[in-house]
Amino acid sequence: MERQFTQEIESLKLGTGETFHGEGILAVTKALLQSGVSYVGGYQGAPVSHLLDVMVQAKDYMNELGVHVEACTSEASAAAMLGASIMYPMRGAVTWKSIVGTNVAADALSNLSSAGVMGGALIVLGEDYGEGASVILERSHAMALKSSMWLLDPRPNLATIVHMVERGFELSEASNTPVMMELRIRACHVQGSFTARDNRAPAVSTRHLLDKPADFRYDHLAHPPAIFRQEKLKSDVRMPAAREFIARHKLNETFAGGETGVGLIVQGGLYNNLMRALQMLGLADNFGGCRIPILALNVVYPLVPQEITAFCAGKAAVLVVEEGQPEFIEQDIATTLRRADVQTKLHGKDMLQMAGEYTTEVILRGLVGFLARHAAHLDTSAGALWMEQVEATRASAAELLGAPLPARPPGFCIGCPERPVFSALKLVEREIGRPHVSTDIGCHSFATLEPFSLGNSILGYGMSLASSAGVSPVMPRRPLAIMGDGGFWHNGLLSGVASNLLNQGDAVLVIMKNGYASATGTQELLSSPSETARREAVGQSSAHADKTIENTLQGLGVKWLRTVHTYRIAEMMGSLREAFTTPEAGLKVIVAEGECQLERQRRLRPQVADLLRRGKRVVRTRFGVDEDTCSGDHSCIRLSGCPSLTVKPSSDPLKVDPVAHVNNNCVGCGVCGEVAHAAILCPSFFRAEIVQNPNLFDRLVAWLRSTVIGWMQPA
Ligand code: SF4
Ligand code: SF4
Repeated sequence: MERQFTQEIESLKLGTGETFHGEGILAVTKALLQSGVSYVGGYQGAPVSHLLDVMVQAKDYMNELGVHVEACTSEASAAAMLGASIMYPMRGAVTWKSIVGTNVAADALSNLSSAGVMGGALIVLGEDYGEGASVILERSHAMALKSSMWLLDPRPNLATIVHMVERGFELSEASNTPVMMELRIRACHVQGSFTARDNRAPAVSTRHLLDKPADFRYDHLAHPPAIFRQEKLKSDVRMPAAREFIARHKLNETFAGGETGVGLIVQGGLYNNLMRALQMLGLADNFGGCRIPILALNVVYPLVPQEITAFCAGKAAVLVVEEGQPEFIEQDIATTLRRADVQTKLHGKDMLQMAGEYTTEVILRGLVGFLARHAAHLDTSAGALWMEQVEATRASAAELLGAPLPARPPGFCIGCPERPVFSALKLVEREIGRPHVSTDIGCHSFATLEPFSLGNSILGYGMSLASSAGVSPVMPRRPLAIMGDGGFWHNGLLSGVASNLLNQGDAVLVIMKNGYASATGTQELLSSPSETARREAVGQSSAHADKTIENTLQGLGVKWLRTVHTYRIAEMMGSLREAFTTPEAGLKVIVAEGECQLERQRRLRPQVADLLRRGKRVVRTRFGVDEDTCSGDHSCIRLSGCPSLTVKPSSDPLKVDPVAHVNNNCVGCGVCGEVAHAAILCPSFFRAEIVQNPNLFDRLVAWLRSTVIGWMQPA
């Protein structure tokens, strides 16, 4: 991994009384160390990748503290790490992106929560719910309920987040239950500060080993008959212990307000949005003061019935601000109030939208309805005015544009090695027809967007080949599954390849071997090029390829296997054509090799800068379009989709259409030329070499060229 976290690592070393400045997810990382964590594991994914990335890079400091850090191959292996806390007094933390990661980890989590823990176990979840979400929208809350694990949802400010991490471990130990902490994107990236404490070297660690393995204790195994007792312990012992701890340590916060007839109960993570909405209504100030009492639930499961009834009693009505569906918290509160015979009117999803992100605007609309019904004396006209202004801004933007703003989904980076595979596929489709395409999670899923618009299903990370098993027998031609090397190691090898081989399937699989788990920030995989290979690859188009994937496939029994460099479009077309048409039965795998351009540029940029600084010769390749030749039909753009390949007005007054144009961001991957050649397009593309710090020979060649060209030009 080329990105350096030097500054972040220094922040982790701050001691008692020093002030930590930074973002939420780094504060969590620091809080783990302050809590004396013995081990940390996880699987990368937004918005929590940073936690593990920083810890992996801080290896030396972790060794000093005796903290074991593991970059796991999936969320399941990360969750299984927490098994160390079942029988040993070791605090452990794992992290991943929810809900997808929690689904993958579900088996281990069920077993863990059944057995219960002795050492504190904390699961830090990136709650990717809302309009910025990059995965299916489901709530982690459901997983907490089903497995009886406690769920923290801290207010997004650093001091509260850190406090909840530290108390989270204590809660876990006091109730022998794993604790989950959900952090929305905004909580992970919120900037702030807190007063640090010294890091605690763990009592059991790589520096302080255990004397011996734990004694055999059948009742700590998640196995019958022990599970029958464990199931009762969850509700009879662990839940009461948790509630007692939450109440005693005041983990949930009540904020007083003068309007005591009404109240608001909010998930801690939504507190900032709620306060902003109240501010826009003129009911709160910049310093946290608010006219309406608020109960902020930093622990959303379990709720403490006494806290709920104490807050609601005497109020005419309470509004629950709870993001996502279904309304777990609202239902929980309704049951509590009914059982306690508290007559306060309860509102929530009847006044706020059921699904989707609770932005300030959404909350404000709900508050206006709630207050109009139960606190009509309050003046909320400031909110109405703000909403009018928002609407007016939208309307004037639409008027200026003449149409709604176009969507701007993410796409392949400039020069991405995966894009040419889809160009080749589009060209081959013209010859053999369109196959059923199962896509997967990863950068290659950008091919579902224009200009490729490829793919019939996405069923999960590494699941593409498995998801083509059902359609394969009913298709006129072999289905195509596409997965990345990240997906291959995460799940695709067993769920897809092994299953296909076991069932003698006949499908085509393309594995995008870009060398890293790129979509999550280029974390390393089992098949990433070695450090030595990367160092040796100075100035080369990619780091030397690793053969672990090919060797694994061959070892499993894959007979038809081709490794093709992605930028060689004609070769890729040939392999795809053969894979779809060969009479040979069985799985056909094309390993599409090409180093992630993002990682390649991170690797090359400092090397090039160093060469330039030392006055050394550097050659940069770029492509361009000869606008005199370009006919303006833009078929190159439809087959490429590279953001560098764009259009510009033609300087020829006889050409009405804009011509194709390669802008200055081109990294010279060569795909433009390859596509033009493979698709037999016009010969408009040219390749140029920009030489910096030219040597004598370069200067001589340049002089010769300009002289000859000068002769050919009219005087
Ligand atoms: S991160 Fe790498 S693999 Fe992903 S789109 Fe960018 S260049 Fe392609
Ligand atoms: S050569 Fe073409 S595809 Fe490659 S980076 Fe340049 S414009 Fe993009």
